[in-house]
Amino acid sequence: MHIKFEDVTYTYMLGSPFEKRALNGVDVSISSGSFTAVVGSTGSGKSTLMQHINGLLVPTSGQVTVDSTVLQPGVKRKVIKPLRKKVGMVFQYPEHQLFGSTVEEDILFGPIQHGMSVERVKRRLPELLNLVGLHEDYLHESPFQLSGGQMRRVAIAGVLATEPEVLILDEPAAGLDPSGHRALLQLFRSWHEEHGLTTVLVTHDMEDAANYADDVIVMNEGSVKLQGKPIDVFREVESLTAMNLAVPPAVRIGMALRRSNWSIDVTNQSSEQL
Ligand code: ADP
Repeated sequence: MHIKFEDVTYTYMLGSPFEKRALNGVDVSISSGSFTAVVGSTGSGKSTLMQHINGLLVPTSGQVTVDSTVLQPGVKRKVIKPLRKKVGMVFQYPEHQLFGSTVEEDILFGPIQHGMSVERVKRRLPELLNLVGLHEDYLHESPFQLSGGQMRRVAIAGVLATEPEVLILDEPAAGLDPSGHRALLQLFRSWHEEHGLTTVLVTHDMEDAANYADDVIVMNEGSVKLQGKPIDVFREVESLTAMNLAVPPAVRIGMALRRSNWSIDVTNQSSEQL
């Protein structure tokens, strides 16, 4: 699904003494079927932008178009409701939203809310669990007996079970160790490639943006400052530094190698060597 922001402004607590403008005339498009990273320092408006994609927030002015749905100030609930079914969101620490007495109950909650056939989703549960790296024996366990990382996998399986057409990932790997972090990002990349869905990853990690995304959007103070392929965006080192965004040496070297069409064959090296 194609996503388009046109001159979008969003102000929290409009009309109160605490009024805060979080988006300031955002014009940006996210192509259907792309894997896009949204980067920017804390408070630059990334989460506010994402919450417009499924109508959790509605623009104070301007409009957001998601496929054929137009979200404008005063948009009716009946317009937003179908969109919620198409857009899956994984927030930071999604495991905090678990509540079921079993893993199965938790995973089925979203699909039931979406009116999907429970039997059909149940048949897919072993495959889904396998995908997120959990054994199907866990289905009848309490999610609260699992480790934090396993609980996160359950929460993610619950979102994927709703078969979203757009997947929004807001710092999904926050707090994981490096190998858990990589495994999770790789899972989302594989799911994206297999299902061709539009995926938007909010991250402060430039390496993730460089490694997994086809397109990068850079936000600063409520506006989109740069957009393009990682190789072009990460070349703008001075602009990024001015926005307090450091491009790690590994990303710079990787980009330089890609520009020169060089590659390093690491396939025959053991993980210790890497
Ligand atoms: P980011 O995701 O890039 O960290 P946010 O979209 O969360 O940025 O926040 C953008 C701005 O809006 C920040 O100044 C933040 O303090 C403010 N903000 C975010 N959520 C709220 C809220 N619920 N009420 C008031 N201000 C908010």
